Amino acid sequence: MNMISNHLPTEELQALDAAHHMHPFTAGADLARKGARVITRAKGVTLTDSNGVDILDGMAGLWCVNIGYGRDSIAEVAARQLKELPYYNTFFQTTHVPAIALAQKLAEMAPGDLNHVFYASGGSDANDTNVRLVRHYWAAKGKPEKKVIISRRNAYHGSTMAGASLGGMQPMHAQGGLPIADIVHIGQPNWWAEGGDMSPEEFGLARARELEAKIAELGEDKVAAFIAEPIQGAGGVIIPPSTYWPEIQRICDAHEILLIADEVICGFGRTGNMFGSQTYDIRPDIMTIAKGLSSGYAPIGGSLVSDEVANTVAEAGDFNHGYTYSGHPVSCAVALENLRIIEDEKLVENVSTHTGPYLAEKWAQLADHPLVGEAKIVGFMGSLAMTPDKASRAAFAAGAGTAGLICRDHCFANQLVMRHVGDRMIIAPPLILQKSDVDTLIERAVKSLDQTHAKLK
Ligand code: PLP
Repeated sequence: MNMISNHLPTEELQALDAAHHMHPFTAGADLARKGARVITRAKGVTLTDSNGVDILDGMAGLWCVNIGYGRDSIAEVAARQLKELPYYNTFFQTTHVPAIALAQKLAEMAPGDLNHVFYASGGSDANDTNVRLVRHYWAAKGKPEKKVIISRRNAYHGSTMAGASLGGMQPMHAQGGLPIADIVHIGQPNWWAEGGDMSPEEFGLARARELEAKIAELGEDKVAAFIAEPIQGAGGVIIPPSTYWPEIQRICDAHEILLIADEVICGFGRTGNMFGSQTYDIRPDIMTIAKGLSSGYAPIGGSLVSDEVANTVAEAGDFNHGYTYSGHPVSCAVALENLRIIEDEKLVENVSTHTGPYLAEKWAQLADHPLVGEAKIVGFMGSLAMTPDKASRAAFAAGAGTAGLICRDHCFANQLVMRHVGDRMIIAPPLILQKSDVDTLIERAVKSLDQTHAKLK
């Protein structure tokens, strides 16, 4: 019997949490000083904390609860699968029905000839798979020297050694001696912060051409792949200029470089198409998927792989790689039910044509706020760049992230989860969001921005 329940006082839960629970991306000392907010239940787009306060979840958990919280049918499917076959592996020539059914469904949904899936437990380990897969692929093609993977600064591709190395986040590289060998980074298409005097279109082209320059520098025969998110999520919802992706695609095609689209956030509806690659007309050889695949109801991720890559690898013998939970039957069953809900309830259409345009209109109006220099949104991924001077796109004198942290805390106090990345405020709400929820979200966001503005004066 579990001795710890929702009914313990919040302070007691927080003290136990601080004493024994090491949190991701959290300073342990802050937990001891302030205590973590304890979330006890959730329904639809609303979280409830241990003090009974309802909070609008503008981040869909961690960009993942696409179908919203509290779906009974998912619980029923999981319970049925737990009774019938709670676990079996997919190693050594074995399989099971949920893994087969989900693989077939993903092949049907994925664009192009991404007809094969290698299962992982989440996005980080799926990206680890990708590193090994692309190197193994080129070795099988007789080009073992083709092993460098090019990524971008400020990208996020996970927290494992390979995932964090693929990512371009300096504070992550600083802990643990990263990146690992043969992973290099080029600039990100973040016009707001780095575009200088160029137009967004000029800057998009310039940043894409850094890929071509890097390939030339390293030698085409050394480069295995380029990896990028269609829209950088954790980097601060960096929506690329329109010129960026067409040029990247041209360069990958021209130089025989595999293109890996990390769709962990963008996949399963968030950008208004099933995949972000469709929104930007990208033709990836491999796609990383996780998060919205199960809407976070069970841990699962994977790599969707093209016919060419999968067939080459298949002919090369054993791929000496796999996770105990690759194709976990309960996660696969949950993912299938989640995909059924996304399709049956037309949640992608909600993003593209119903709630999405309404949210986009209201979000764009936030650019009129004195603190906001840029308000951008694609589908249900939005960002606000806060600045003390809109014309020069200046940073705050108090230091990067000061305004963001203040605003994030006001949002929390105003019953809204909005995340901050430096001084960018970002949202990625559940795909079930309705127009009335948009009104609540915008009202709470404006109140929080006003309070932040008053505090910064
Ligand atoms: N790739 C992207 C684009 C992500 O946003 C994330 C997580 O936020 C990951 C990979 C890592 O996924 P996970 O946390 O499931 O390992």
